[in-house]
This record gives sequence, structure tokens and C-alpha cells, in this order.
Amino acid sequence: MAPTTQISANNSRYSSQTQSSAGKSDSHVNKQKTSIRGIVAELLSCVNPDKPLVSLGVGDASVYPCFHRGQDAIKILSDSNSSGEFISYAPSFGLPSVRRAVAEYLSWEVRQGIKEEDVYLMVGGTQAIQVCTAVLATGRGANLLIPRPGFPLYEAKCYLSGIEPRFYDLLPEKNWELDPSQLRALADHNTVGIVLISPNNPCGVAYSSSHLLQIAETARDLNIPIIADEVYGHMVFGGGKFVPMASFAHIAPVITIGSLSKRWMVPGWRIGWLAFVDPYGSLKQVKMATETLMNIFCGPPCTIQAAVPSMLSASSEEFNNNVMNILESSANTLFTKIEQIEALNGYSRPQASMFMMVEVKTDLLDGIENDMDFARALMKEESVLVLPGSVLGLKNWVRIFFGVPTELAREAGERIASFCKRRLLVN
Ligand SMILES: *Cc1c(COP(=O)(O)O)cnc(C)c1O
Repeated sequence: MAPTTQISANNSRYSSQTQSSAGKSDSHVNKQKTSIRGIVAELLSCVNPDKPLVSLGVGDASVYPCFHRGQDAIKILSDSNSSGEFISYAPSFGLPSVRRAVAEYLSWEVRQGIKEEDVYLMVGGTQAIQVCTAVLATGRGANLLIPRPGFPLYEAKCYLSGIEPRFYDLLPEKNWELDPSQLRALADHNTVGIVLISPNNPCGVAYSSSHLLQIAETARDLNIPIIADEVYGHMVFGGGKFVPMASFAHIAPVITIGSLSKRWMVPGWRIGWLAFVDPYGSLKQVKMATETLMNIFCGPPCTIQAAVPSMLSASSEEFNNNVMNILESSANTLFTKIEQIEALNGYSRPQASMFMMVEVKTDLLDGIENDMDFARALMKEESVLVLPGSVLGLKNWVRIFFGVPTELAREAGERIASFCKRRLLVN
């Protein structure tokens, strides 16, 4: 029996599937994967052969030369490798000096600071999400509050861990803030935490200090920890400000997720972290479970870990500033164009991450019934790939990735505009 079978069999909601056939024990996961991959594959098959593809659907900015990390990262990694010091197994929770470097990095603007022993090195933000959901799963119908629209991996990892995902809404008309009263209505005694993605993917918003405080107070009242996905930490521009959730850990305990993948543009290194910011020790059991799990799982390769302190150091500042300038300019270019398109609504100008959500007014567009129609026809005619929002739980919206060179963003904006113009219904 696969381990996932045992975990999910604890949860009555999914046990009927697991009992019917052991081979189908992870059917929820399969369904999820096929829906996203399947949709992207279908869209890609519609591409207009006469126009080069511009992918704003799924994104890895690091493929573009303007975002290449450059020689310093290559040198940092090759120094780490050629030192010959890091060929052995790393300790299960990560190299102590590296855990310390991450703790120092995360302590920025956090009142009580973060200690070396509270940081665990992970195989990217992805493993951090996996570990979080696994250690929070109580096996008794546990549920986790996760954002909609969100990052699809949370839902998938919930199913993998036998946790029920409960979706709370991010509200476009409120600059993608959440409504604390909805959290209170969704939560019950089996709620094990709330996931907050901040700065936010896919909505491109950097949450204000006052909103984060409001969330911390709600979590305190519900007696649950906040899982703060800060993979886009510091990736803010245009007046957006990054406030780490950990600065409110004296109100509600925080588990921070981070990674080198986005800000440092080395996603292929697969290195990230999980940090407990828990001044009153209320997550002691969860932390112990994390240690047990990390003794079973394997963490990131030793050589990659050893490269982290240099990557975090201030010498990255120039690179980071340059990345923010390009992201700001690409986001603005696209957003300004979208604002001029009658059939689209961008709501708020992005100030963070590499994604924005855009509403499609389907009733203004000929032959477009929903977000999938929009994405398909846009591919067929203009070879521009966007992700239909229904994949993220938001029908008749699309997710647009702007981690591309500004020239490409301009080109994509023009093509989206001419597509919408051709399709606009005159009333
Ligand atoms: C990319 C991403 C992750 C995963 O991080 P990796 O380091 O690529 O594994 C987690 N959360 C969010 C919101 C992301 O966008």
C-alpha cells in the first residue's frame, strides 16, 4: 500500500476512494495534476503556427537572459563545489552555518528575531509546503484554510497529506484582501492553520501591515498558526512594501516558507526553507514532527546549501534591484494596456510577485463564453498563453505572468488588445 493510502485512509472524506481500489488511492492528486497540465497542454496545442508563442501562462522568469543570475551565482556554486568540503551528507535539518544565515536574513524587521534552530532547509518552497501540510495533518478530518485564487500546489499537497482544503476568498474589489469574518465562518475545531501567500501570487499584491495585523488577530482568536508563504518576500515595487508575517508572531505563531527560486532566480537549485516563529512555543509538537519528518525525508544537496549564505548576502542587491525594475516595467506595460481594453478588468495595478489576475467580461466578447474559451481563442489567434482562472477557482478570470522582458510584455499586451478589439461586441 502506498504511504498516501494510509494517510488519506485516516480521513473519512476520502476513504471511500481509497477503499474502492488501492491503485487509485491518490486519485485526487491525479485529477488536480491532469487538470492544470491538461489545460496547459490543450492550450499549447492551439498555438497559431504563424506567430511565435508568448507564454504568460506558466512562468519561469529565469529562462530569460535579462533575469539571468549571472556569473556571481555560478561562481558561488562552483566555489562551494570545488572546496571539496560538501561532499558528505548534510545534517537532516540543514548545515548549521546555513540555517544561521537564513535565520539572520529572516530576522530583518522581526522583533523577537529568528534562531538557527528554528530554520529547516528544504528542497525548494515546494518541499516546505509538503512538510507543512504533512506535519499539520492530525489524521482526524483536519482542514486547512487556503486562499482562492491561490497556488495550486497547496490543494494538491493537502490531498496528499489527507487534509481537507477549505478555500477563503481574496477579494478583488478590496485589493485582494481577505475577509476575516469568512475565516471565522470557515474554521472549526479541526482547522489546523491558515495559509497566507504574501506578497501574493497570483494577485500581485503586497499586503499592508494593518491587514496582516488583522489576519494575525483572527488567527489568534481561532487558535491556529499562520503558514506564511513568503517565496516572493521583498519582490515588491511601485510603492508596494513587504512586511514579514513573522513581525506579528507575538500575536499568532507563524511558519514562514521561503526559497531562492524567485527573488534570486535560481529555481533549478531547488533550495528553500521553513522557519518557525513561535515565541510562546505553541507549535512545539508541530516542530518536533517536522524534525521527525526531516529525519525520514531528504533535504537539499549539501553543495547547494553551502552556496546559500553568499547568495543571501548584500552583494545580491544590485541584481535584485534590477529584477524589480524589469518586473515593475513589464507589469506596468501590461496593466496599462489592459486598463484600456473594454472587455478586461485588471482591478489593481500589481505591486508584487510575478503574477496578476485579470477579469474577462465575457458578455462583451463574441464567441467567448468563459475563461477557457478566452484562453483557447487567444492562443489560436495570437499565440499568447494565459492561465484560465477556473483552474485556480476563479471563473472568468485569467492569470497573467509578467516575469518576462518588457519588450515581450509589450508585444503580448498589443496582441491581447487586438484580439479583444476584433471580438468586441458592438451594442
Ligand atoms: C514558486 C512558488 C513556490 C515554490 O517554490 P519553489 O522554490 O519553486 O519550490 C511556493 N509558493 C509560491 C506562492 C510560489 O509561487
